[in-house]
Amino acid sequence: MKTVEIEALQDINWDKLTFSLTPTRSMYLARCALGKPWETGDLVPFGDIPVSPAAGVLNYGQGVFEGTKAFRTVKDRVVLFRPDRNARRFVKSAERLCIPPVPEDMFLDSVVSTVRDNMDFVPPLDKGSLYIRPCIWGTGPVLGVKPASSYTFVVYVSPVGPYFRGGMTCLHLKVTRFFHRAAPKGTGNAKAIGNYAASLFPLKLAKEKGFDEVIYLNAANEKWVEEVGSANLFILKDDVLKTPRLGGSILPGVTRDSVIQIARDLLSLDVHELDITVDEVLQADEVFCTGTAAVITPIGQITTDQEHQVIGEDVGPVTRELRDILTGIQREKREDPYGWVYPVTEF
Ligand SMILES: *Cc1c(COP(=O)(O)O)cnc(C)c1O
Repeated sequence: MKTVEIEALQDINWDKLTFSLTPTRSMYLARCALGKPWETGDLVPFGDIPVSPAAGVLNYGQGVFEGTKAFRTVKDRVVLFRPDRNARRFVKSAERLCIPPVPEDMFLDSVVSTVRDNMDFVPPLDKGSLYIRPCIWGTGPVLGVKPASSYTFVVYVSPVGPYFRGGMTCLHLKVTRFFHRAAPKGTGNAKAIGNYAASLFPLKLAKEKGFDEVIYLNAANEKWVEEVGSANLFILKDDVLKTPRLGGSILPGVTRDSVIQIARDLLSLDVHELDITVDEVLQADEVFCTGTAAVITPIGQITTDQEHQVIGEDVGPVTRELRDILTGIQREKREDPYGWVYPVTEF
């Protein structure tokens, strides 16, 4: 096994990283014509790409994305976390939007080569991570509503810090009855770009009123909580951990799945995936949200149209423990009993 020399790191103020774009050396780019297989792609300098004004993605939102991270670990190497899950979800999202899916092995190879070529942008241990953003866009021109004639697959990366300002401070969320994130049988379970455009306005209104994010209810009858704009929701009550079941309008998060397994296997908690009412959330002992970007972020206060509920000022003990275990596995500080960690510095 050969180890790639880790060059000197970029001259970046690693202590000041936020969740924002820092351009890096290169990105991966591949193209595909509708009905043909994907061409072998290449690393190209990070930068703008020319697209037709009639591109499917620009006119009809034909685009999907993924989000995963590379971490520098205590073993002084760089690892990915469960990238095979992102590869599989990317295929499913693409299929839902009539986008030719990128084969899973091509996805993994392109992510690994992009990270390897930008290794000096991976933050030092515990200073953040390298966020990896694979996207596919319908870039061929279309006028009528139909799938674009050609597609572009890009993987770009950026060193990032915490998604929510303040990192581990408790969030204040608003339960919205004015907007739905996803409809039953819609695109809520795909990482389709349009889902996020639609979430910007509810998020803007919530932020203007001092909330950090929005909790969405199910569109059919507004009886159940679904998720936060870009993260899955969990509640803990009397040592039982609950999260909304995946009914088609919830994004199946890799972090969600990891937290369920850690809670069951390593913390011996009862974990249930089921319908959860707003009242149950308000009465919970601990509430948190999960995502690649959000990691595990505690929720301290929740406001509905009728009431304001304080869950807790401090991070709950189970939330903290789950976060310590998850981030410990990702940084190879703890044993990885699942084989989730995927080294990119050895081959
Ligand atoms: C990406 C995403 C999540 C989190 O998924 P992870 O795989 O854990 O990053 C949750 N909800 C929505 C709407 C998302 O887009």
